[in-house]
Amino acid sequence: MTLALDNLGKSYAGRRALAGVTIALPAAGYTCVMGQSGSGKTTLLRIVGGFERQDEGTVRLDGAAVDRLPAERRPVHTLFQDYALFPHLSAADNVAFAPRLLGVRGAELGRRVARLLEAVGLDMSKGARRPAALSGGEQQRVALARALAGEPRWLLLDEPLAALDRPLRAELRRLLKGVQRERGLGCLHVTHDPEEAMALADTLVVLGEGRLLAVGSPAELYARPPSLAVARLLGELTREPGGRGWLRPEQVRLGAAGLPGRVRATACLGDRWEVEVEVAGGLCVARCAGPPGRAPGEAVAVAWDEAQVLRFTEDEA
Ligand code: ADP
Ligand code: MG
Repeated sequence: MTLALDNLGKSYAGRRALAGVTIALPAAGYTCVMGQSGSGKTTLLRIVGGFERQDEGTVRLDGAAVDRLPAERRPVHTLFQDYALFPHLSAADNVAFAPRLLGVRGAELGRRVARLLEAVGLDMSKGARRPAALSGGEQQRVALARALAGEPRWLLLDEPLAALDRPLRAELRRLLKGVQRERGLGCLHVTHDPEEAMALADTLVVLGEGRLLAVGSPAELYARPPSLAVARLLGELTREPGGRGWLRPEQVRLGAAGLPGRVRATACLGDRWEVEVEVAGGLCVARCAGPPGRAPGEAVAVAWDEAQVLRFTEDEA
């Protein structure tokens, strides 16, 4: 089921939250909407989900406008950051909620719930617990199983991993992607975290102040961002030493040959190192896979490929 947004606009008390957003998304794919806090992500998702009415524009599923359908009659399910589970029901009963409404009962209901809990990596022993007796990650898994139980065509996810610890975030991110792929669902996932957005997205949508700044594949937008604003939202930039362009820090090489500089500081970030180098005309930040082998104060040269320099017409610097 394709999802198309056509010229969506929304204001709150005269302030624009969303303006002129037009996107066409394929039936089965993972789309991430990335933008800073206040850029209109939640507003966009709530309009698609039917929790909010837009001032302008149309939401279409398989070509048909759904603007007049209430949330519960749209073939979509929203997964919220705070899980929004029924607190008085066990995990299994939370998952059984939608199938029960559809008239599924008895052994068939039990089988369905067990399959769904298994699909999200929870065993039945956890099924008897109420949400309050589960960890945040387990609650989010239950919320996902409950969402899948209603067999939606689209899952709408609002910062679903934001409240979780980092290792758990990565694990649940892989679970979400796996579920999307196996079931051939459409996922529309909003997040302010560029790493999460790029890891998940087949299609990456970048929002800024309620407007569409870019749509493309993560790799393409990261390597060739259409504007400085998009480049900055997707990752760190450092000034091209001695020039007017920009570089990604991982594209700056440290060695003996190149523009001479001096190490100002080094930091171990775990899976990579960051090195600040003072060069003529400013500071250059480099990222490398291992220890840079040079201490603060030591001389080092920086080099880069001219083809990787990003240049933008707008000059904010
Ligand atoms: P995001 O999810 O990207 O952080 P939101 O969609 O929540 O952004 O908000 C976009 C803008 O709309 C913000 O300026 C926010 O303050 C405003 N806004 C959102 N919801 C409401 C509301 N119910 N009433 C008034 N202003 C709102
Ligand atoms: Mg939000």
